[in-house]
Amino acid sequence: MSPLADSRGDVLSRAQALADEVAPQAGHFDREEALPREVIQRMADEGFLGAMVPQAFGGLGLDPLEYGDLTEIIGKACSSTRALLTVHASLVAETLAKRGSDELKAKYLPDLASGRKLACFALSEPQVGSDASSVRTTYRREGDSYVINGRKKWISFAGIADLFLVIASDEGAVTAFIVERSMGGVSTHPMTGLLGSRAAHIAEVEFRNVVVPAENVVSRVGVGFSFVANTALYYGRYSIAWAGVAVAQAALELMCTYATTREQFGQRIGSYQLVQGMVADSVVKVNAARELCRRAGRLRQANNMDAVMETNVAKYFASTVARDVTDAAVQVLGGNGCWNEYPAERLFREAKVLEIIEGTSQMQQIMIANHGFKKFGRRTRG
Ligand SMILES: Cc1cc2nc3c(=O)[nH]c(=O)nc-3n(C[C@H](O)[C@H](O)[C@H](O)COP(=O)(O)OP(=O)(O)OC[C@H]3O[C@@H](n4cnc5c(N)ncnc54)[C@H](O)[C@@H]3O)c2cc1C
Repeated sequence: MSPLADSRGDVLSRAQALADEVAPQAGHFDREEALPREVIQRMADEGFLGAMVPQAFGGLGLDPLEYGDLTEIIGKACSSTRALLTVHASLVAETLAKRGSDELKAKYLPDLASGRKLACFALSEPQVGSDASSVRTTYRREGDSYVINGRKKWISFAGIADLFLVIASDEGAVTAFIVERSMGGVSTHPMTGLLGSRAAHIAEVEFRNVVVPAENVVSRVGVGFSFVANTALYYGRYSIAWAGVAVAQAALELMCTYATTREQFGQRIGSYQLVQGMVADSVVKVNAARELCRRAGRLRQANNMDAVMETNVAKYFASTVARDVTDAAVQVLGGNGCWNEYPAERLFREAKVLEIIEGTSQMQQIMIANHGFKKFGRRTRG
């Protein structure tokens, strides 16, 4: 067991200490559009980059509920720092731990858990978003290797990543590969000016005749969407659901603090019932979102089949709550809510992004409705 895994017990207090360091700098990271290496290293030093990686590979081996609490604490402080948990720790490392061969796990998981190598998840493309199984990035077999060509877009941490979990297709046979930047033929182009996740080193990626050894196929050829990308998105959605709770909780605390100090018409604005209505609705929504996340986490912990759908429910609801509550925070702060000297406008932007990533709200609605028809629909005559 690694020394990090050994100290798993106090994960949340260490997360809170890191969050306290990072929170005052989150606005600066957002303006600079770059998360500093030192923050990534701090996350690595605490073992958080291997949050869900089994202890046998040097990870913390957290359970889903512990991971949720960790994500809320870090996400409340800084969305781009939290994105490391979503992307590196969950979409890639956790997926590899679940779907990778023993050889692939031994080859990469210790480096991912320790943060010696940083990873990103490369699914979306310029022409391919919600319809994710129709990726146009191609692979072809050549001897003991595969050759990958194509472009990816919006890839969080691609600007600085060492490893890419790439989803590619050979005439519809979708396969997942671990690609190392050092294999050659990989170039990244930073994307700036984004609404949220501005510090998450988001980039476009180009793969030009990248030669990948056959052993770097994750799971099997042809199951890269059904078995690998879907697993990654399931883990990613769970993370984003908690990210929604985090952003909403931060906005709630901000509006409550502001409403108890700001005075208008000779009274604190928190004494006005219309402001109290916004606070009350926000408290209820945040509590409800957190409980849905916990429910999804408990089901997952129990290996219950409903966990996947309840994760979609939690992601859809929590991201909507994050948007609503950050909207209320901007409203309570008035002009100051529209100014980047206060965090409300950043939280508002971060919340909106959560309704788009890991499957848009419309994609969640479609999956939830299909589930609803199956589960609650009754046979009727005619
Ligand atoms: C900040 C940020 C970070 C990201 N990080 C990553 C990353 O690390 N890795 C990665 O692979 N991708 C990443 N993405 C991409 C993200 O996953 C996609 O943006 C998302 O899946 C939506 O795809 P799209 O943007 O192409 O929208 P589209 O799929 O073009 O959708 C546009 C609109 O049409 C709606 N729509 C589409 N199809 C339907 C339908 N059948 N029914 C109803 N409505 C529909 C959508 O809901 C949406 O409202 C990131 C994006 C952002 C903004």
